[in-house]
Amino acid sequence: MNKDEILHWLNPDTDPAPLLALADRVRREHVGGAVHLRGLVEFSNYCRRSCRYCGIRAGNAKIRRYRLTPGEILACARAAAGLGYGTVVLQSGEDPAWGPRELAALTERIKKETALAVTLSTGEHSREDYRMLRAAGADRFLLRFETSDRRLFGELKPDSDYDARFRCLAWLREAGFQVGSGVMAGLPGQTPESMADDILLFERLGLDMVGIGPFIANPDTPMGGAGNGKLDLALRMTALARIVTRNAHIPATTAMGSIDPQGRQKALRCGANVLMPNISPAEHRVDYSLYPGKICTGEAPEQCAGCVDAMLKSLGRERAAGHGHSLKVQISPARPAGCSPKAPVGEGAPPVRAGEPRNGSRVWGTGEYPAGRASGRS
Ligand code: SF4
Repeated sequence: MNKDEILHWLNPDTDPAPLLALADRVRREHVGGAVHLRGLVEFSNYCRRSCRYCGIRAGNAKIRRYRLTPGEILACARAAAGLGYGTVVLQSGEDPAWGPRELAALTERIKKETALAVTLSTGEHSREDYRMLRAAGADRFLLRFETSDRRLFGELKPDSDYDARFRCLAWLREAGFQVGSGVMAGLPGQTPESMADDILLFERLGLDMVGIGPFIANPDTPMGGAGNGKLDLALRMTALARIVTRNAHIPATTAMGSIDPQGRQKALRCGANVLMPNISPAEHRVDYSLYPGKICTGEAPEQCAGCVDAMLKSLGRERAAGHGHSLKVQISPARPAGCSPKAPVGEGAPPVRAGEPRNGSRVWGTGEYPAGRASGRS
């Protein structure tokens, strides 16, 4: 699918039904009907950064800060295993008190005491620290780039560096992680062109996981007065991500369910194949307030599991067995019907070496970047 085709499908005047139907078919053919459940532990809402859209940004004095202890997180992981989930996802702000050494020690304990796959989502680290976390047994890492538009990235994340973000993604790949990234849809100042570039970049990065959520304005942030993104746009982006990546794992995100009660179900019908039920301790759920109206802040983990199973049943889908590792190694060279040759990504996006294979292959190497450390913790 080329950029013009993507722009056509992103146009709100275009009927999305054929796009969503194609994405559902590509999902069936390349990842099947089963849905992977990843238990999400939001273990600290401390963050040293000041992303202008984020409710747990360092400058937000209105939220109650918390961080879980290793023992509390381990208890969550055991609960995830008990609920039959294949993966525990450990997510936090960039909390200096939960540095890479502490994360590595925790990962080792979880891997030793459970059979779970471990996904980390803890922001930017140094190249050496990513290697240490991988050596400790972490299987996957999620690090969203949020937008491929360099100018917009700078506005959204004033104390982050665009190039460092992508350098971290390359380091994660080099360290041997299954790598996930993603974007927000409907950001103020986001253009259709930049969203088309986001989609093309998902493919070029060879991502194992792709997460897309609608932008939801948080009143306690500098972007609190902006309008929310539309679910329709996030669904079009999800469908396009499915079509171009074919077999990446794509979650029906909590943000989709927060902006529309049927948001996650709709995403599962147009390409998504993952759900991330929250297994954080109930007393802290409400404090991980990235945006207002977040769902699943009052339920116990068992209730979320029951809710998710009921959702899957209503859709005629079932839980996937196993860990839900990346399918990229099993990718077939055939392209889905309805897709055409690819176009180059627009100006401002990170470089890709000419002649590199794209779909299903690892495209990025750290040789494309200058030596040095990311701007994150080390
Ligand atoms: S988006 Fe991530 S890095 Fe930025 S303030 Fe929020 S938690 Fe911190």
